Amino acid sequence: MKTAPKPRGRWLRVRAGASALACAAAVAAAGAAGAGVTGRAPPALLQAIDAAGQDHPRHALAQAADRLAAARARRDAEAEFWMLLGRARVESLLEDAVAARSTLDEAAALLARQPSPTPRQRLWLEIDRVAAESTTRPGRELLQQVAAMRPRIAALGDPALACDLAATELWLLQDVDSHDEAWLLAEELERCGRDTGQPLLMSSARAAMARLAALLPAGTPGGTDPLEHIGRALLALDDVPSRFRRSLVEYDAGVALRRSGRPAEAIPFLHRALALSRELDDDAGIAAAQIVTAEALLDLGTSAEALPLLAEAERMLEGRDGGFRMIRVHELRLLAMSRLRAPGIDGAIAAARRWDLESLQPAARARLARALAGAHAAQERFASAYAELTRADELERSAREGARDVQVLRLQARYDAARREAENAELRYRGQASQLLVERQQAEQRALWTVLALLLVMLGGAAVAAWQQTARRRELAELALRDDLTGLPNRRAVTAYAQAQFEQARRLGLPLVVAVIDLDHFKLVNDRHGHAVGDATLRAFGQAARTVLREQDRLGRWGGEEWLLVMPGMRGDDLRPVFRRLREGFATTAVDGLEGRHGFTFSMGGAEVDAGTATVDALIAAADRALFRAKALGRDRLALAGEAPDAPPAAPTPRGAVATA
Ligand code: GH3
Ligand code: MG
Ligand code: MG
Repeated sequence: MKTAPKPRGRWLRVRAGASALACAAAVAAAGAAGAGVTGRAPPALLQAIDAAGQDHPRHALAQAADRLAAARARRDAEAEFWMLLGRARVESLLEDAVAARSTLDEAAALLARQPSPTPRQRLWLEIDRVAAESTTRPGRELLQQVAAMRPRIAALGDPALACDLAATELWLLQDVDSHDEAWLLAEELERCGRDTGQPLLMSSARAAMARLAALLPAGTPGGTDPLEHIGRALLALDDVPSRFRRSLVEYDAGVALRRSGRPAEAIPFLHRALALSRELDDDAGIAAAQIVTAEALLDLGTSAEALPLLAEAERMLEGRDGGFRMIRVHELRLLAMSRLRAPGIDGAIAAARRWDLESLQPAARARLARALAGAHAAQERFASAYAELTRADELERSAREGARDVQVLRLQARYDAARREAENAELRYRGQASQLLVERQQAEQRALWTVLALLLVMLGGAAVAAWQQTARRRELAELALRDDLTGLPNRRAVTAYAQAQFEQARRLGLPLVVAVIDLDHFKLVNDRHGHAVGDATLRAFGQAARTVLREQDRLGRWGGEEWLLVMPGMRGDDLRPVFRRLREGFATTAVDGLEGRHGFTFSMGGAEVDAGTATVDALIAAADRALFRAKALGRDRLALAGEAPDAPPAAPTPRGAVATA
């Protein structure tokens, strides 16, 4: 069986705002003025170090050390804080997670001692902490944290922070195999980079797109040739000192091409990435490039050549924490040795087992288990091989569940954002207090629906991904066909029902009647009692209709206070008792906010299908004309299309009469 190992990406993030010019200016300013990083100003010191790290991380670390010493000598706590964040960032680039975490602890302690740390400082620190923990804490936990930060960052209105959060989230999503979501975010990040003039950010977004393009199916927005994106990623770096970032792009090109089943094309890119990593003394980069090159060689069937590369990768990774790359080294070594039937495979099995750590991604552990199964099988220990395969299935299931949780989380976050948006919009555009109340109720109702949709998705946890998608789509489709205020079918839904019933009636020669209903003097209801009571009246009408109508009848909100009623199997005359029942039902249904009987009425126009009715639209138009007649005759009545023209009423028609000729 051909396994499809997924090489883990290299650090994708680029500090927002980092460009060569900004860097030079910031360093100069930092030297001259020291702090200058309070309030809403961009954390220029941090950007400077980060930008330097994108060219040569080790030089950037040396710079950070100098500046840190200078800031401490000046007792400039704020400059010290930003410098610490910058240093942690570069340490993360070099995948020195232990150092990055301890630097961030230092920064946190410093912030705690400051008299009034700003929300911005806290948020930058928090993002960096999430980033530093990405190799040791489960992706979905971190994504949850990111989701919680988003509104806080939006509230600050700081584009640099927002871009940085997007970059972090993009990384995390790729890590949990949420490819579609990651693609959307990569697009967002590229826009972010373009809007704020940051080539490094654009480049990193494009490199991520290349990796994703290799995973997303052709025909989807992401399903394009990875090389197209790599070309753009490199182009964006043209005028920026960015050797380190370039090594990542070359590496990403290799990963993407290999994933696309083009291992021979991947190798030159990986060689260039390797050369740059050696030049920059970037051990993690060397290991990463060697690992993917080894994979490409395995793909090409030259397993023996892969082994020395894996040995170098192992040396480079020795003593690093986490093991998220090391597990891959052992997996590949087992694959190569099994294929070669190399001696010493038992030693390799024992060594690999040590990296099967709970803290690592289940997907990576599943692949290791498959490699272990292969190694046992090569030794003809089939019972052990079988046990490893079972374990691999188990781990894969848990990886799939993780990806599903992430989807739920993102859906929730998107929904929250939509609701906030709706609430803000109403605050901006509407003045009337009563209206605000009603619209908030509507927003809450929508929220309830989504929570229900979410619950469904979550309850369906054990089912396969395809099933979930259909369920969610159905749920969303359902939401799209319902009127928020009354819970009845909306115009789209009731029109579709009318159309379907019309076609059936024509085909089978069955009767069908439709009626258009309009509440009488509804403007007055609003004017006298307020919009909230108006809405409550609409709900009362819907409620009355529900108790009066048959199963196969459908009443939908046509718009405002107008309704369309579809009654299959009925003739025009049948509408008379329906009208009376509905009139009685509405009159006796209480309207929230009003005491006793409300006294509101409605008018109804009906039309029946006959041989001359060409379309459902024509049928509805005929009912509409009849409604107009009912209104003209004094309202609170039913008029039917095709009846003899109305004689001028000699005496006032009694309320509730059926208007006929
Ligand atoms: P008529 O008897 O001729 O139908 O008189 P009318 O006052 O009902 O006139 P018309 O149908 O033109 O007015 C409809 C009014 O309904 C206008 C609008 O303010 C109100 N309306 C429309 N949609 C809503 C809604 O969702 N909630 C509330 N409260 N009022 C609405
Ligand atoms: Mg109207
Ligand atoms: Mg009306």
